[in-house]
Amino acid sequence: MSLHSRMLVGFVAGTVLGLAANLWFADAGWLDVLTTYVADPVGQLFLRLLFMLVIPLVFSALVLGVVEIGNPRSLGRIGGRTLVWILAVTLVAVTIGLVLVNLLKPGHGIPPELGRELIEQSGDRAGQIAAGREQVSGLAVLLNIVPRNPVAAAANGDLIAIMFFALMFGIAATVVRSEGTRSFVGAMQGVYDICLKLIGWVIELAPWAVAALLFGITAKLGFDVLRQLAWFVGTVLLALSVHFFVVFPLLLRLFGGMSPLAFFRGAQPALLTAFSTSSSSATLPTTLKVAEEALGVPRRVARFVCTLGATANMNGTALFEGVTVLFLAQFFGVELSLFQQALVLVLCLMGGIGAAGVPGGSLPVIAMILAMFGIPPEGIGLILGVDRLLDMCRTVVNVGGDMVGSVVIARYEPEQAAEESA
Ligand code: ASP
Repeated sequence: MSLHSRMLVGFVAGTVLGLAANLWFADAGWLDVLTTYVADPVGQLFLRLLFMLVIPLVFSALVLGVVEIGNPRSLGRIGGRTLVWILAVTLVAVTIGLVLVNLLKPGHGIPPELGRELIEQSGDRAGQIAAGREQVSGLAVLLNIVPRNPVAAAANGDLIAIMFFALMFGIAATVVRSEGTRSFVGAMQGVYDICLKLIGWVIELAPWAVAALLFGITAKLGFDVLRQLAWFVGTVLLALSVHFFVVFPLLLRLFGGMSPLAFFRGAQPALLTAFSTSSSSATLPTTLKVAEEALGVPRRVARFVCTLGATANMNGTALFEGVTVLFLAQFFGVELSLFQQALVLVLCLMGGIGAAGVPGGSLPVIAMILAMFGIPPEGIGLILGVDRLLDMCRTVVNVGGDMVGSVVIARYEPEQAAEESA
């Protein structure tokens, strides 16, 4: 059975057993024992393994991303434009997600006391973080982006500070061109590759974790959970559709000089591959072929924009991260101020660059952002069960974004295009 089918089985098994327990055995002592000693530890184990990978993964991915963009050999100008493109379009994507999740409020519906109770019971650090966090002012939060001590920031799971450090490191690594920096970049590539392998192993545990986490939550909350979850899926799909069917066509018309219909027709093979593999990286060979052959993007531009895009330009992923974090905040009754939401936006923006282009690549980033805001990372268990469909759809948006980007950037590279076709 494929991993995704096993995940679905885990989801159904956990939910059905949890609902049965909620309906018939809510007060049974053994249920407590079962959740405390079996379901919770299994779920926790999975979450811990995900957390374990966040720092090396995000650090290496960001350093490599910046080095790739800033490499003079790989075309400083295209690099700069690609970076602006990635940031601007991802910003639009995350904003769409955040606006919709605020309007539709898919996570509202669970009584706030229950949410708080769940946070208190959360086996992870979330509850403690939420309880112990002093209110810091906006200015302090901005200052905290710059870590005083990167090792301490990593130890405290301060993702944004680590991202900042990685960006600076990457920038410096592109400026200093020595034997030493080259081997450092090689080592970062090694760290990144190893992390991808590890994620692959950890994800193998997901079916068990899904079953355990869902059992725990449905046993406590019953049918309400399913209703909220359906809302969540609807919100993510709606937001992804707006980005895919409204923003992409607009960008193509305004900057790409290409009819959206022609684009979608040409891009189809890559979009279908993305849908079936849930992996931007696995789709990359098809993306490149389609960009060059069907969309007429010069090879040089396609190779740069799409290759970089497969790991760094993830519109769908960033949007999904934002919606998920806010959904789970609503679900657990954690109030996020406008300023905190802005911080979520920045984190998702970088999270789109820092997530790996593999199935479920965004999960470690989401787990970390949740912990930062005192939202129980166990919430991930909720969304894992429905993640297959969402992963397929957001990967389509990710890959679509890479191709739209390559079309637009190619349009502003006139001499290069002529040079290539000559
Ligand atoms: N599966 C996505 C991709 O490869 C990453 C993610 O959002 O999990 O593009």
